[in-house]
Amino acid sequence: MSFFENTQKLIDEAAKLAEVPGDILMRLQTPNNVLLFEIPVRMDDGSEKKFQGWRVQHNNALGPYKGGIRFHPDSTLDEVKALASLMTWKTSLMNLPYGGAKGAVAVDPKKLSARELEELSRGYVRAIWKEIGAEKDIPAPDVGTHAQILDWMADEYTHIVGHWTPAAFTGKSPEKGGSYGREVATGFGGYVMLREYLTHAEIKKKENELTVAVQGFGNVGAHIARILFEKGYKVVAISDSKGALYEEGGIDIRKVLQAKEERGVIDRETCYAVSYHEMPCRHFTNEELLTLPVDVLIPAALESQITGGNMEEIQARVILEMANGPITPDADAFLTERGVEIVPDILANGGGVVGSYFEWVQSQSQNYWTEEEVLKRIDQKMTEAFDLTSAVKNKYTTSWRLASYIRAITRVADAMK
Ligand code: NAD
Repeated sequence: MSFFENTQKLIDEAAKLAEVPGDILMRLQTPNNVLLFEIPVRMDDGSEKKFQGWRVQHNNALGPYKGGIRFHPDSTLDEVKALASLMTWKTSLMNLPYGGAKGAVAVDPKKLSARELEELSRGYVRAIWKEIGAEKDIPAPDVGTHAQILDWMADEYTHIVGHWTPAAFTGKSPEKGGSYGREVATGFGGYVMLREYLTHAEIKKKENELTVAVQGFGNVGAHIARILFEKGYKVVAISDSKGALYEEGGIDIRKVLQAKEERGVIDRETCYAVSYHEMPCRHFTNEELLTLPVDVLIPAALESQITGGNMEEIQARVILEMANGPITPDADAFLTERGVEIVPDILANGGGVVGSYFEWVQSQSQNYWTEEEVLKRIDQKMTEAFDLTSAVKNKYTTSWRLASYIRAITRVADAMK
């Protein structure tokens, strides 16, 4: 079953419980608009290459479309459609005045020079500029894209429309009308959700006794690992696409950040940099990280990491889904049945879009806040979303995932009515 079909199945289940009328459900099953285009780029060697791009606008019943742009070689239209619909549910769940969208380009950004990457980013905007805007569709970063790319995009858009419109994009650098705190927002939001979850949970350990493993050390994984470390949690394992580290006594994440900046990857050498024993910590594989006997497992890399193939080996008591769709439905059903508590993606990683929302508010008003102020507002908004979801969970006596979808779909369906 594809990622899109997986998401669809969940929506059907939630819609049934929430008694969403059939005609509305039918409209929620397909995106409102699908834009397909090719972006020509003049490569450094003089040749011209065309890259496949997409923008999928799923639903805008609650406000303008909102969602990131992914640069990844394995991106497909099916994946972008699933991610666009996830955005509709996420923005609804976070009580934001937005709909859902997603964009992608099938490209490995690491294989492009800075000039080629800039041309691709500007070309993406030239292909879709008529369909986006501060009140229409507001793109943001995702896997493989970052503030510099969004700055180029916002700049291209400003040139085309002829006036300064910073609110048409979020995830920009603070120097180009971005928000302080936007970089850390997703990781910070994940910490807020874990904190709130633990106040309701059966696990009664103190923070410094709770063991955590984080898969992925990019924008999301590195920030949540650092924040949890700073808040006193015992982060015992981390990984990136090249390798994983395990240290029973807990890893000093600040040292990993420093080592990763110097070396670019997490490898055996990183072990020496972060260990405080004479023996280096264990360097192992990503597969092993997922099956560690930790209290909290945090997948923060890509989708479909916990599947039918490894579900039986998972030993974590709680899974906080910071990546989108990291658990396949068969694994989700199996683990839920076994009593593993799963805080789903649309609830756990909503901090990114909440941070984006506050960037948009600041860009619209040209009134900018400090990072402390932004994080305080994100904390408030996410705690509120958690409490409302918790009430739905109790009402329907269901999983966190289904409760999140019921609440999200109800808000969208009510607006569509
Ligand atoms: P990123 O590109 O910055 O980082 C991804 C990280 O995962 C990198 O460290 C990479 O090395 C690692 N990785 C890739 N394949 C891996 C594998 N097989 N095993 C272990 N690690 C692997 O991306 P990101 O922005 O951190 O996004 C991560 C996930 O979070 C994605 O699913 C994304 O959709 C989701 N997400 C991101 C945001 C955001 O604000 N960036 C918001 C919500 C959700």
